[in-house]
Amino acid sequence: MASVTLRNICKSYGDIKITRGINLDIADGEFVVFVGPSGCGKSTLLRLIAGLEDITEGELQIGGERVNELPPMDRSVGMVFQSYALYPHMDVAENMAFGLKLAKVDKREISRKVGEVAKILQLDQLLERKPKDLSGGQRQRVAIGRTMVREPKVFLFDEPLSNLDAFLRVQMRIEISRLHQRLQATMIYVTHDQVEAMTMADKIVVLNAGEIAQVGPPLELYHYPKNQFVAGFIGSPQMNFLPVRALQASASAVEIEMPGGSRMSVAVDGSQVSPGETLTLGVRPEHFVDVEQADFAFYGEIAVAERLGDHNLLHLMLEGVEPMVTLRSDGNRKVAVGQTYGAGLMANKCHLFRADGYACPRHYREPALFGDA
Ligand code: ADP
Ligand code: MG
Repeated sequence: MASVTLRNICKSYGDIKITRGINLDIADGEFVVFVGPSGCGKSTLLRLIAGLEDITEGELQIGGERVNELPPMDRSVGMVFQSYALYPHMDVAENMAFGLKLAKVDKREISRKVGEVAKILQLDQLLERKPKDLSGGQRQRVAIGRTMVREPKVFLFDEPLSNLDAFLRVQMRIEISRLHQRLQATMIYVTHDQVEAMTMADKIVVLNAGEIAQVGPPLELYHYPKNQFVAGFIGSPQMNFLPVRALQASASAVEIEMPGGSRMSVAVDGSQVSPGETLTLGVRPEHFVDVEQADFAFYGEIAVAERLGDHNLLHLMLEGVEPMVTLRSDGNRKVAVGQTYGAGLMANKCHLFRADGYACPRHYREPALFGDA
């Protein structure tokens, strides 16, 4: 097992910069998820760590040693891809053994390792099956097993669950999390799915256009996004963004003018904000409350009501506000399209972003993180 350190890692293809100045410390045994929209450079970064691409600039260390010049097989990394391309003419055991056979590992040693890994992945009853006789989830487990038998110090996963249906994805997600608990190996996992990132990661790295937008534990990113990009990417449905105007600002609070003219004070650091400045108010759909308990209320017409059983997702049209506001309400509450609905805001749950996208740091100590509120 090993730590992974990225120091000012840059990757260019000709004049095109794909990855810019990435600095990142991954601890031994940590589960780190790279997440971001398609094309932001997640796979590129993973391939740089694997040694499948040359690093243009910067230093990469695995286990404290510079590895920039080492070929993939000498880096003690094992990669699991989205398309797991098993050899169709080989059975499960042969597929898993293939890499070790190439490395001229002793036959008995190979069969011991394959047996051991097969047991962990619950493939021990399937060792003689050909890939075509396996389900998608089983095939993905073979692909993971093929990597595991080589006992890499660092596991690299590139969207390994994207080819599976929704149900299997959830199952495999849990299996990989359990595998990590069991192996205590360093794992770097790439996905575009923020739910996978939130549920699996010790630490999430949000990438935007080849740069790190924020690094931190899942709940820190959820409650304290440093910028509007992270705020919009983490959380589902997405955070609502509304244009507001700063009336007064200090290090302890910003007083804003809401759409419609009312005022509200938000406890964020406004030392970078000038009165009159246009800001963006961020409110998560799950943070609206009943108007009686609220610091501020919006009234709007329900344009779409999605009733999901345990909760409703309501899409409200508010006067003078674009686009619609999405909020989550109790599933037992009866709601109908066309009805007027009051959406209550709690000032301490609000986020404020400046025009350049940076968040005004929130002062509220979230109970989920601090447990003292
Ligand atoms: P992601 O995995 O986040 O979807 P990638 O790392 O695959 O993104 O790609 C990041 C960007 O790099 C994309 O814009 C892609 O077109 C570009 N890219 C990837 N490989 C090459 C290459 N060999 N030559 C030029 N551009 C590339
Ligand atoms: Mg990719």
